Amino acid sequence: MPELPEVETTRRGIEPWLVGRRIERVIVREWRLRWRVPQKLPAAVRGATIRAVGRRAKYLLIGSDAGTLICHLGMSGSLRVMPADAPPFAHDHVDLVLDSGRCLRFNDPRRFGCLLFTTKEPSRHRLLSKLAAEPLSDEFDADTLWKLARGRTASIKSFIMDSRVVVGVGNIYASEALFRAGIRPGLAAGRVSRQRMAALVEAIRCVLTDAIEVGGTTLRDYVDPAGTPGYFGTRLLVYERRGKPCRRCRTPIRRFTQGSRSTYWCPRCQR
Ligand SMILES: [Zn+2]
Repeated sequence: MPELPEVETTRRGIEPWLVGRRIERVIVREWRLRWRVPQKLPAAVRGATIRAVGRRAKYLLIGSDAGTLICHLGMSGSLRVMPADAPPFAHDHVDLVLDSGRCLRFNDPRRFGCLLFTTKEPSRHRLLSKLAAEPLSDEFDADTLWKLARGRTASIKSFIMDSRVVVGVGNIYASEALFRAGIRPGLAAGRVSRQRMAALVEAIRCVLTDAIEVGGTTLRDYVDPAGTPGYFGTRLLVYERRGKPCRRCRTPIRRFTQGSRSTYWCPRCQR
């Protein structure tokens, strides 16, 4: 599943091809995504010039004169820039045809992604208005996190994966950040000290920034907009390393299941 770094990598990959370009037309081959593509979308953005490509949590925001396209990659979606006349393959659901002779093509085999449209301020859209802080913004800091954790008995791992606490920390990055911060994933969020919370904030920023720099993970069938697989997988310290020696202390990495997700950790380095 594309996580925040993959979405940010996509944003950076498509941005230079889109900004300043006019949308000549929109071809919708499949309307039934997670939510139906709005009927009025093709006519609404036709002829509009793209002004910016932004991101909020895992939503990509393609801003134009006419309004903002809101795109989520779901479980299996990807966006590629390619020649507009390239023949579509299976699951190539939507093309945004640009005046450059290229198109932005949305492919999504499982159709859990979406393509929506708003003429209002996108941050007020129902999907975005209740989202918590961005992990790479200044809003996300140890004090806020520590205050939110007061009295919480949920594990620290599920706490940092809760999009009402901070957005975009998926399963892989939660495991990796907790290892780097030396915090046991099953520890109650309310029992993590302010000082350790500061280490965790730093670790979350680090794992996400590192992953963005190398273009996302190798996991599942993710490919970046240029069609090359990411390779953050080679840098993972605990994720999917069950039984292998900890890269720090050689203790075998353990795995347990937490709310149907796999958690990986080192029993010696994380307390
Ligand atoms: Zn260790």
